[in-house]
Formats: sequence, structure tokens, C-alpha cells
Amino acid sequence: MALLFISNDDSPVEWQDALTSFDPDLDFRTWPDLGTASDIEIALVWKQPPGSLADLPRLKLIQSLGAGADHILTDPQLPGGVPIARLVDSNLTQQMVEFAVLAVLSRHRRMKQLQLAQTQSLWNVIQPIPTHHSRVGMLGFGEIGREIGNALTRLGFPVTAWTRTAREDSNIVCQSGENGLVAVLHSSDILICLLPFTEETKNILNADTFATLPKGAYVINMARGGHLAESDLLSAIDSGHLSGAWLDVFNEEPLPSDHLFWKHPKVIVTPHLAGLTVASSAAEQVIKNLRLVRSGKAPNNAVNLKHGY
Ligand code: NDP
Repeated sequence: MALLFISNDDSPVEWQDALTSFDPDLDFRTWPDLGTASDIEIALVWKQPPGSLADLPRLKLIQSLGAGADHILTDPQLPGGVPIARLVDSNLTQQMVEFAVLAVLSRHRRMKQLQLAQTQSLWNVIQPIPTHHSRVGMLGFGEIGREIGNALTRLGFPVTAWTRTAREDSNIVCQSGENGLVAVLHSSDILICLLPFTEETKNILNADTFATLPKGAYVINMARGGHLAESDLLSAIDSGHLSGAWLDVFNEEPLPSDHLFWKHPKVIVTPHLAGLTVASSAAEQVIKNLRLVRSGKAPNNAVNLKHGY
């Protein structure tokens, strides 16, 4: 029985090495050289070509190479009844925490203005803003969001979060529902999007959302490009309502070279690198999931198809 690796963004050599260090007998195959289709029992995928999983009669698991599963679920020929699992990896989470802290501190300490002042040789002393005046709102408070929230709380930032289900298992106040969203937005000087990309969360960063944020608020999108209505963001920044944005993810990736975001003085663009999967760190859970599904059990971190994440 074999594992089929499908990704243009991850190294098959690294993954084969990492996986076989946990299971030396693993039969590792790389798309499109899958050999006999009925040998494949697990597909390890990132943005698989539509239909590539359709004719694998003994497929037991579709394992995402990332924390999200949206890139898998868009395939109209996804085989029914095969569980889908995503990665929950401490290395990836740590990268996301570092990135969020970097972006929040950068806004809080006004790094963009300081960099601009340097280009003009200006000794521009910006008075410190009390940490509690930079209130952080988090859309999504799951595996990654919780760690970010805890790190920001430790630094003294007041944090509130918005989740789909009501949660009381955290020291951070979580809101849910439409009213909860409005409450979180009202108290967000810095808004971080960490939602999964689903039908409900598509375009959630839109003109209404921005209008609900306090004047001068800053937006950090490190989830998916489809969460953001890009022209609404530009209008909200250019009207002076928002102070700027840090964007790591985009509707079209790589971001086209003529896109307005690249040269906008109030937008920071990073190329979808807030958290990158490291094979040596994430391979063990893939092998664990393979063993679970082989023994007829559900995989860890299974995606709930009803909720889309
Ligand atoms: P989780 O699934 O663990 O958490 C998702 C959170 O979003 C949960 O708190 C969930 O609520 C909430 N949520 C989902 N749907 C809704 C909704 N309709 N309304 C309100 N809240 C909702 O995800 P992770 O924390 O592991 O990852 C989050 C996302 O980060 C990933 O899906 C991926 O898109 C992105 N990501 C980006 C990376 C990058 O490099 N830029 C790297 C890694 C991940 P509840 O708690 O009630 O379930």
C-alpha cells in the first residue's frame, strides 16, 4: 500500500525522507507517477489538481499539507466518504505566533512611519502608545489563534476573539454570532484574521467590517486571500478610516506585479509565509494518521465537512 504526494509547493524529497524516518517501509509515490491506482491508501496534498483523487479505489485518507483544508475542498471530484485531515503542528503554530507578534508590534510601535522618516533622514520621535490602547481583535481562535492570543496577552495587549461556537474555555473573552462580531470589531484597534476559508467566512473583511472598526484601526490578514474584499480595503485605507494593513495572503498568489498593494505606502505585503509546513516536524502526525485509518479509526484533526474546516 502506498502514499501519493501531490504538491507543487512542497519538496517531495524532503517529505519522503521525513516520512520514511518514521516508517522505513512506506511506499512513497509522487503525482502524476502513481503506478497502480489501487495501491494508494493515503494522499498527502496541497492544492491537488481537480479530479486527481477521483479514481483511487482504496483511498482511506486525504491528508492536507497545511493547517487549512480549503485548497482540498474546492475539488468538484473529491471522493465521497474518505476522511480529510489537516495539520496541527507546533512548528507551524510557532511561526504564526512570531508573525502575528511581529505585525502587531510593528503597528503598535509605528514602524512604517519610522521607516519612512529614515528615508527622509528625519529624527522622528514618536511618543509611545500605551499597550492597552492597542486592543487586538482576533477573527478565529482555534489551534493557531489561541496561541497568538496568549502571546499577545502576555505582552500586555487586550485581546478579544470571535469564534463560530460560544467558548468559555479561555481566559480571553470570546464572542460568537453576528452581535459578537460587531462587539469584537468595535473594540479592535488591530484586527487579525485567522479564520478558515469557508462559505461563511468568504469576504468577511469587507466594507461593513471596516466601517465597524474604530477610526485608525489596522488590519492583519494571515488566513486566506478570499477573506478579504481587496478594493474595500483600499477604499477604507485611502479614505483615512483605516490606518493600514499587513497582508500575507491574497486572492491571486503570487500577487500580480501590477497589483496596487505592492506600492501602497500603508500596506505591507508578505508572500504567504506567515507559517510554512516543515516536513521534519509534521511527518510524524501523517504517519500516525496513516496507522489510525489503516486500523479502521478516524484520523486526528479531521475536517468537519459540514462546517468546512
Ligand atoms: P482552527 O480550525 O483550529 O480554528 C478556526 C477558528 O475559526 C475557530 O476558532 C473557529 O471557531 C473559527 N471559525 C470558523 N468558522 C467561523 C465562523 N463562521 N464564524 C466565526 N468563527 C469561525 O484553525 P487554525 O487556527 O489551525 O488555522 C486558521 C487558519 O489559518 C487556517 O484555516 C489557514 O487558512 C490559516 N493559516 C495561514 C497560514 C499562512 O501562512 N498565512 C499558515 C497556517 C494557517 P470554533 O472555535 O467555534 O470552531
